[in-house]
Amino acid sequence: MPHDAILPTDLVRLAELDSAWGERGAGARLEAVRRAGRRLRDRILSRGPVRCVRTADIATFPYPTRYGLQGVASVPVPYVFLRNRMHLVQVAAGGRTITVLVNPTDAARSRRAPFFARMEERYGKLAAKLLSATYAPIENALRGWGVSPEAVDYVTFDHLHVQDVRGLLAPAAPGGRAFLPNARLLAQRAELETLAQLHPLQAEWYIPDCLAGVPADRIVALDGDYALGGGFAIVRTPGHTGGNHSLVVVTDRGAWTISENGVCVDAYAPGTSEIRGLARHARDTGVEVILNANTREGSLDQYTSMVLEKTIADGVPDRPELPQHFSSSEMVSHPLAPGLSPTFTHGELTYGSVETEARPDPTRATA
Ligand SMILES: [Zn+2]
Repeated sequence: MPHDAILPTDLVRLAELDSAWGERGAGARLEAVRRAGRRLRDRILSRGPVRCVRTADIATFPYPTRYGLQGVASVPVPYVFLRNRMHLVQVAAGGRTITVLVNPTDAARSRRAPFFARMEERYGKLAAKLLSATYAPIENALRGWGVSPEAVDYVTFDHLHVQDVRGLLAPAAPGGRAFLPNARLLAQRAELETLAQLHPLQAEWYIPDCLAGVPADRIVALDGDYALGGGFAIVRTPGHTGGNHSLVVVTDRGAWTISENGVCVDAYAPGTSEIRGLARHARDTGVEVILNANTREGSLDQYTSMVLEKTIADGVPDRPELPQHFSSSEMVSHPLAPGLSPTFTHGELTYGSVETEARPDPTRATA
């Protein structure tokens, strides 16, 4: 698997959680991660806020309720509806502005992931089309923010399920330019290793050739947790996938976490959920979170990862019991999913002013 051997100097390795994840017993690991997570949170917050963050809707799609809410919702509706969103994040680092796209899902290519392709086969193209909605493409969102494709330094996804980055990072023709000609993919090495040879239980969710044609120096393999400028961090959150990570964004409202470990705030505060079955499940079993459970690559670690997200994220102003966790595929109310509306939605993440003149550092951009 190709990867960049030289880590960009923009990235600062954060070691606070290294020994915690090495704890062998799952219960001991949970408590060690919770403790170390408080130190990591302080470290990230001490670097100040990002320059700006913006949100764009990408697509809404049906998703099995038993996956999204771990089978604990007592609502007889087979599908919830999730909405993918992308974030633009700009941070200050080394006297310049770094521009990052978080979860820029290519909706058209995503549909070729085996799970969605089979769903289309089962219900027909038209039904699949009627059930799903796609919003403005990534280039329109960038144009709307006044950010040129050349200005994007990095793209990152919380994990690579259903992602296909060829439209962003692979040249359209041999020797040509990619849509984001200066951007590099930040992915955990474990996620890249997963893709290199998929296990049968992983195959349903990945697009195996999603990196084909992307030059090796456009892929940065990460090992653990990193700060990128002020107010942005990449924090490993294994479990949903082996190489899963969460993005941390600091605004005037404190820290936010972004991932698909849970599909709505209810998943992070099930005791206060208004979705039938969740609060009762939390009460009966004592769990703190409800997993997005489509893969169960490592459920115990996914639980621990969600507790880590809750530890890092601040609470919603006036609703401190609800963490500022932004689900990258957030459950939304839908007429075909009665009883499955989230108790609270974040919807968007907006802070600061977009720097429209941001350009990549010419000394860093490689040919
Ligand atoms: Zn996933």
